[in-house]
Amino acid sequence: MTDHYAVIGNPVNHSKSPLIHTEFAKQTGQDLDYITRKIPLDGLASGLKQLQAEGFKGINITVPFKEQAWLQVSDKSAHAQRAGAVNTIIFNDDGTLTGDNTDGMGLCRDLINNHQIELKGKRLLLLGAGGAARGVIEPLLKYQPSSLFIANRTASKATDLCTLFAAFGHVDGGGYDAISGSFDVIINATAASLNGEVPPLPENILNPNGVCYDMMYSDSDTPFIIWAKQHGAIKAIDGLGMLVEQAAISFQLWRGIQPETKAVIMLIRQLKTV
Ligand code: NDP
Repeated sequence: MTDHYAVIGNPVNHSKSPLIHTEFAKQTGQDLDYITRKIPLDGLASGLKQLQAEGFKGINITVPFKEQAWLQVSDKSAHAQRAGAVNTIIFNDDGTLTGDNTDGMGLCRDLINNHQIELKGKRLLLLGAGGAARGVIEPLLKYQPSSLFIANRTASKATDLCTLFAAFGHVDGGGYDAISGSFDVIINATAASLNGEVPPLPENILNPNGVCYDMMYSDSDTPFIIWAKQHGAIKAIDGLGMLVEQAAISFQLWRGIQPETKAVIMLIRQLKTV
């Protein structure tokens, strides 16, 4: 019998997750399908109930529901519990929901394994304090950067995250006007690219040999990738690798089998060029 999975969000039509999970299923011989489901902005709780009633086995959660989803799930991994955001849910046979967050491990695998970027001893700047940002802070700090500054449009959300994660490393935060000094790695975890915008960044914040990473992926350069290239980044990386890596960890949680990611990243890059 075919098992059903989905990614929920708003907007969600742009998502590559159905393609990624279909490739993982082919590769590992798993009998499943995976769709996108747009949920009304005020309809997460009823949307989850509906998916559960339809017999879905699990879902991914994307913008803007990761923090709301955290509130809906009583059973969570320790990392998701601390992150305050959930991007993966398992619908258990007994009717309960288990939540996890695979974004941070997905980002770190892409930075470190796929792009050979060193984080230890580096100055990191994280833009955004929403669901995606919350999930990556603890995993990034595990790699012992010398500092992590979180900048967000709503400054209080950034400072709240600093308090929450203070025990895990040297972390500061505030509004974009509070950014000072320069950074080795700048990670964009805002939804600004979805609106064709770049957060209001000061000049001269990227170190020579600095790297920029946009969690957003699109078939053409995102506004932040364009900004990175204009400001001399030696690498300007989009979020495709993270998307595939975090999906692989979700797949493993649902199916108990770890798919191979590199071939799937290459496949999607090739589709972009045809
Ligand atoms: P949320 O809605 O939870 O958070 C959005 C964040 O973006 C908030 O910090 C918000 O600031 C900020 N923001 C929104 N618009 C602007 C703007 N115009 N200028 C500056 N800041 C802005 O979304 P998520 O955290 O779930 O997702 C963020 C992005 O990361 C999305 O583009 C998503 O596609 C991408 N993503 C990619 C993943 C991957 O695997 N590649 C995984 C997860 C996310 P404020 O708090 O002030 O509202």
